[in-house]
Amino acid sequence: MLLKEVPGLLAEKKKLLDSVRRSHNSHAQLFHGPTGTASFSLALAYAQYLACKAPVEDDSCGQCVPCKQFQKLTYPDLHFSFPFARVAGSPRELNCDYFNKDWIDFIQHKPLFHLNDWLSKLDVANKQAQINVDEAARVISKLQLKSYSGGPKFVLLYLPELLHSAAANKLLKTLEEPSPNSIIILISENAERIIQTITSRCQKLHIPRPKTADIQAFLKSRGIEESVANTAATVAENDMVLAMDIAEDSARYVTFAELFQNWMRGCYSAKVKEIFAFADQFTTLDKESQKEALQFFIQTLQIAFSSKQKSESAHHPVYEKLSFKLDGFASVLHLKNAQMALQVLEDAIHDLKRNGNAKLIISDASFQFSNLLRLKER
Ligand SMILES: [Zn+2]
Repeated sequence: MLLKEVPGLLAEKKKLLDSVRRSHNSHAQLFHGPTGTASFSLALAYAQYLACKAPVEDDSCGQCVPCKQFQKLTYPDLHFSFPFARVAGSPRELNCDYFNKDWIDFIQHKPLFHLNDWLSKLDVANKQAQINVDEAARVISKLQLKSYSGGPKFVLLYLPELLHSAAANKLLKTLEEPSPNSIIILISENAERIIQTITSRCQKLHIPRPKTADIQAFLKSRGIEESVANTAATVAENDMVLAMDIAEDSARYVTFAELFQNWMRGCYSAKVKEIFAFADQFTTLDKESQKEALQFFIQTLQIAFSSKQKSESAHHPVYEKLSFKLDGFASVLHLKNAQMALQVLEDAIHDLKRNGNAKLIISDASFQFSNLLRLKER
């Protein structure tokens, strides 16, 4: 991946390039920031730049042998380390070698991702994933190997915060005194959870939360229609990975908005029959979608309420596709009922996560909501 193919992050790319030019780049680096950024892509593009035989002014050449190998993820001295959980049939001593083929396939198809996307691919989304001590030993051995390419050796370690403590301790020496021509890049989404003895050994680069405008530009550059890109960027609230997922499946959010519209009509009319009809409709969604829909309802409520507080008209691109007027909904909200309504939705998500009966949960939330919409400010 070329640096210019990594969306946004212009200042961060410049910092990296400057550090290479001045030979100030460390053999142990920590890219850290929130979830939903392009930090992994940046690490990959940066490694390619370091391996490139003929880098141009501010990027890799894209033409030399290492560049071509990086594009296919076949550069022989590029290794990945990542969290995993035991799967059926996995050996007792387990490290990333076992999952490497899946990982390569995963990042080739989905260059921007969340941890959960990876764990879902392994079918272990409900398990506790970590990087174990066997994997730390593997990382060390990979960096001790002779370079096959004759160029630098890399380990890109995704989510060092999930290193088991014994694994983290095992890596300390390697981070401090790596074998020659080795570079280890840690990509973290929760740097405060990494033990300090690791972070103190790394050169740090903060990866900021992407701005809505950057996300819109990125989605449009991927050929996504403008209105879909705007919707996705708004709904995803500075999470580029989520925005990409939404853009690829934008019809889903229109469905959620329709559900919200029906829900509010039911709650506002306070007719039991309409509320149960909505509950029936809601429970046709699968469990994950139910939680996503409620999360989307929370966002709707927040947008409507904050517009009301600022005496502005409430806009949300998904609702603009429907006839639903967010301003009408906003007009019945005030500080007291908006906060209580948010709590109702958060409780409903919490109960769904604990595998409660979806129909009961959503019916109960609806009756509470119905009362809240009628609640007077004083
Ligand atoms: Zn090159």
